[in-house]
Amino acid sequence: MRRFLPGEDLTAALDAAAELAKSGIGALLTELGEQVTSPAEAAAVRDRYRAALDRMRERGLPLPLPAQLSVKLTHLGLDMDREACARYLLDLARCAAETGSFVWIDMEESRYVDITLELFRRACAAHDNVGVCLQAYLRRTPADLESLWPLRPAIRLVKGAYNEPPAVAYPSKRDVDASYMALAAELLERATRWEASPVFGTHDGTLIAEIAARAAARQLARGAYEIHMLYGIRPTEQRALAAAGVVVRVLISYGSAWFAWFMRRLAERPANVWFVLRSLV
Ligand SMILES: Cc1cc2nc3c(=O)[nH]c(=O)nc-3n(C[C@H](O)[C@H](O)[C@H](O)COP(=O)(O)OP(=O)(O)OC[C@H]3O[C@@H](n4cnc5c(N)ncnc54)[C@H](O)[C@@H]3O)c2cc1C
Repeated sequence: MRRFLPGEDLTAALDAAAELAKSGIGALLTELGEQVTSPAEAAAVRDRYRAALDRMRERGLPLPLPAQLSVKLTHLGLDMDREACARYLLDLARCAAETGSFVWIDMEESRYVDITLELFRRACAAHDNVGVCLQAYLRRTPADLESLWPLRPAIRLVKGAYNEPPAVAYPSKRDVDASYMALAAELLERATRWEASPVFGTHDGTLIAEIAARAAARQLARGAYEIHMLYGIRPTEQRALAAAGVVVRVLISYGSAWFAWFMRRLAERPANVWFVLRSLV
């Protein structure tokens, strides 16, 4: 498990972030968990994230890049009480702003897209340190992106990790990759005019090379886009990109809800089971 999860608690995640900082790589922290079913637990998740922001500041993790948070709205109680969830998100954005940090909203199953974008819009009206994830596999994403341009949004583009029906999401890798590149091209185009802050959440070397080439052709400044990857996946490439001057951040998960999380990593890529077995022997 250590390959993907440096440890179950926040301290281990912060240690891993400090280690990455030595290679000039930033960190995003996320506590594992989703679809909580108790209002008290949703409030506790918000409190723990606030405490995490304090700990990041104490550890000096603003360096070299401010550590950021990545949160799932269903972890903040979206299924039970949307207004409370919206308040918790605003709380976290405010606390993150105090430490120069940033809050990313993960995108979950397709049934949550409308409400997630609604809460993102509300957060953007009050704070400029909130971004949202969009999934290239969803057929609706080009239209969603179009609707977000007026916000000059921070968008993390990913391929998409959930099992969705073909009517909703492209089933083939080829179509998902083509959709990813078309959306990435639009984001880069907007970034040249500072109308969007794109982050590309991918380990796909072909897509990353294409993104870098387009960014270079447009003479995009360092920091006009970022590459985000998951902890433990393609670490050599993470360091190489950072050394080449790309802003790279790594998403570090922590928390005891690791089983559901690991099953997702496994569903994405069955070969991951090998790494877990190896860490057990
Ligand atoms: C920072 C970040 C945030 C994310 N947030 C969300 C989110 O909010 N919502 C959501 O639906 N999805 C999210 N994802 C997951 C994403 O949707 C993909 O499922 C995941 O990134 C794998 O797709 P890929 O773009 O890396 O390309 P792929 O085509 O899956 O992989 C490209 C190559 O990367 C390597 N690779 C990819 N995954 C693995 C792995 N698990 N283990 C080992 N090697 C691997 C392999 O060499 C593979 O050939 C996030 C991903 C990242 C990096």
